[in-house]
Amino acid sequence: MALEDAKNQMDHAFTRDDPRGPSFELTFGGATSFLRRRYTKDLTDVDIAVTGVPFDQAVTNRPGTRLGPRAIREASSLQAPDAPYGWPFDVLSERTIIDYGDVAFDYANIPAFPDTLTAHIRGILDAGAASVVLGGDHYISFPILKAYAEKHGPMSLIQIDAHTDTWADDDMSRVDHGTMFYKAVKSGIVDPATSVQIGIRTTNEDTLGVNIIDAPEFHRIGPAAAAKRAREIVGDRPVYLSFDIDGLDPAFAPGTGTPVWGGLSSAQAAALLRGLAGINIQGGDVVEVSPPFDTTGATAIAGAHVATEICQLLGWRMRGGA
Ligand code: MN
Ligand code: MN
Repeated sequence: MALEDAKNQMDHAFTRDDPRGPSFELTFGGATSFLRRRYTKDLTDVDIAVTGVPFDQAVTNRPGTRLGPRAIREASSLQAPDAPYGWPFDVLSERTIIDYGDVAFDYANIPAFPDTLTAHIRGILDAGAASVVLGGDHYISFPILKAYAEKHGPMSLIQIDAHTDTWADDDMSRVDHGTMFYKAVKSGIVDPATSVQIGIRTTNEDTLGVNIIDAPEFHRIGPAAAAKRAREIVGDRPVYLSFDIDGLDPAFAPGTGTPVWGGLSSAQAAALLRGLAGINIQGGDVVEVSPPFDTTGATAIAGAHVATEICQLLGWRMRGGA
């Protein structure tokens, strides 16, 4: 499709024939799927399924991330016409990416939610696609990781976050966005020794053996060195990348539930993600985007860029890193 098509083609979310390639429809109009990919529940020959999880019932402070998937989709419409900047290839043209819509769940039956989400992701993985999840609060990464671990065994986690989210959950039953990685490590679905948390700047004495590049160290060594160290930690093991948008400084991502000062700039996050090219990434998520607190829309814009970069990292792995 060409720029000229913007005059007579709209709503690629349900009208596009070719699942690959850019989209030149009016960025400010039309149905807003993620990056104007086709909305479909058909996973045949799909490389990457982008799926929304509008769940925010596990938060400790400000809510609102149930509105995150919608806001990220809308913010992504400005990126749809062009290849992601600075890469030697364009995953949108090279791979079949679809918008799988959102997971269905009973908002009033929270105990049933984890298994519902695990089954949703399992369906995507069983079809041979990778999932990129638009959250939702960070709890959702736990049921997602369960599905990944069923397929790959214990995952190596790369987590960008202000918080470790490994606070203790002794009976392992809480639906809490601050304890789910405790459960993930204790239940063996995340391998701590080959996992790394980047941007941490809240106190939690027990690391559970997870490697940490905290925010002060990140600022000292810079994004390229942090990415290099992360690549060394995960090696060639299967990686799940979880990006809590509060890893960014509140100046760049104010629209989130538990903001903490001293975080990454968006430029540093972009360089960090680009520097991870070559990891054996199998899937990822961007979580904790809360539109009601996102006064400028900057947080949703950052979320859309992060999700796009995760797609590029997946595309890089799928092409064998060449
Ligand atoms: Mn956080
Ligand atoms: Mn988190």
